[in-house]
Amino acid sequence: MLAAHVLGRHIESVTVVDRDVLPDYPSQRKGLPQARHVHLLWSGGARIVEGLLPGTIDQVLAAGARKVGFHEDVVTLTSHGWQHRFPARQYAIMCSRPLLDWVIRDEVLASNRIKLRQRTEAVTLVGDSTRVSGVEVRSLEDDAREVLEADLVIDATGRGSGLQQWLSALGLPPVERDIVDAGIAYSTREFAAPPGATTGFPAVNVAADHRTGKPGRFGVVDPQEGDRWMVTLSCTRGGELPTRDEDFLPCARALPDPLVAQLISSVEPVTPVFVSHIGANRRLYPERLCRWPDGLLILGDSLAAFNPIHGHGMSAAARGAAVLDKWLAEGDFGPGEAHDTQRAISETVDDPWMMAASKDLEYVNCRNDSTDPRLNRDLAYTHQFADLVARKSIRAQAISDVATDVASMSVSQSDLGTSRFLLLVQQAKELPELTRPPLHSAELAIANLELRAAATS
Ligand SMILES: Cc1cc2nc3c(=O)[nH]c(=O)nc-3n(C[C@H](O)[C@H](O)[C@H](O)COP(=O)(O)OP(=O)(O)OC[C@H]3O[C@@H](n4cnc5c(N)ncnc54)[C@H](O)[C@@H]3O)c2cc1C
Repeated sequence: MLAAHVLGRHIESVTVVDRDVLPDYPSQRKGLPQARHVHLLWSGGARIVEGLLPGTIDQVLAAGARKVGFHEDVVTLTSHGWQHRFPARQYAIMCSRPLLDWVIRDEVLASNRIKLRQRTEAVTLVGDSTRVSGVEVRSLEDDAREVLEADLVIDATGRGSGLQQWLSALGLPPVERDIVDAGIAYSTREFAAPPGATTGFPAVNVAADHRTGKPGRFGVVDPQEGDRWMVTLSCTRGGELPTRDEDFLPCARALPDPLVAQLISSVEPVTPVFVSHIGANRRLYPERLCRWPDGLLILGDSLAAFNPIHGHGMSAAARGAAVLDKWLAEGDFGPGEAHDTQRAISETVDDPWMMAASKDLEYVNCRNDSTDPRLNRDLAYTHQFADLVARKSIRAQAISDVATDVASMSVSQSDLGTSRFLLLVQQAKELPELTRPPLHSAELAIANLELRAAATS
């Protein structure tokens, strides 16, 4: 939708083709199975959305989303202990994916330049190895096929994109592909949050300890519109995940800390359990092909998809749309320009790719089917440095601020390698270690918790 929006700013006629019916209210749909699970939009992505569609974030908030300040509004257990709730430096928008999509879709489709072809499947590209000139589509209503001619085709069909076969049908060689797969799986259930909890209680994030040599287990409780908590449990390869409703709470109890289980043990579930096994890091390198057809670009998950634990997918897709916008504004559509633009889009996925793929390699039984040299050398030093930053960042605000800027995709990951940052790591003042979840007494009362923790003030 963001890609369609930026096309509509510069081009007279844009057609969005989707297999699904895109509902005119917030609703789950078949083509977006991941929407059943926690989806946060980091501030880095939210700023891009806001820049492209001013007022959108306020609309999402007005519809019940919550702007969660990191780390003020989040209680996080990292592999190195509890994170101090430092004043918010960045934020994430927390709401259901259907709500976020609906608000953006409603804004985007209001443009009379953008037409929507629903229940229509992109079947293949039309053109030759030098130029894509359209898409062959198939109606899911009557199976009728048709060619939609176009000056520019954007593949934004997500993780299941058929791009490789489509390019091969045009006579192009396969695009190189990397996969780093920690075998991540997700199980999600929604609960009625206690009164006041969606605004007065922090989001909760319990992370695995990658150093145990056992499959990682994670759990999050995120506030959602409609006074609900969305609770997602996830694990890496070899971990157990609840597929039945009755196994959800016992599985939450097996997390590295019982907080998630304590929170959900006395609230009512409002959905069954949904399970998903989509989570490998997968990246295509269209920029490495010696020839790339004019008239074609790929972005979003179709180009690069990441372990969702980091919450980077939507922000990365938004970055791609922003590059597209810049290119269209410059109006330079000569031969080879699409390849250059694709290269620029591909650069924007490098940070989330490295963050997710190098982290996942720390989990047992992670499969590394990648050629990226940065992921195929001895990573001991990289992982030691990441551990050092993580350990310091939970107790030193100055370090936490930079790490949060990077995690929220607000600055480049290279900020962690500057001499200024390295000096901070050496000198930053650390607060004492937290021995229990940092929850205030008012929060404990809201969630009806009698924690092992005495309340912090
Ligand atoms: C479990 C899970 C949790 C996640 N949590 C987060 C999170 O917290 N934060 C975050 O930023 N990201 C998260 N992500 C990633 C996020 O879902 C994706 O990065 C994002 O949806 C990518 O957007 P996209 O537009 O590229 O693809 P998608 O959103 O997948 O959209 C693809 C669209 O293409 C349509 N389509 C597919 N094939 C065809 C075809 N042949 N013809 C016509 N239409 C087609 C589909 O119907 C769909 O509408 C998560 C992912 C998963 C799996």
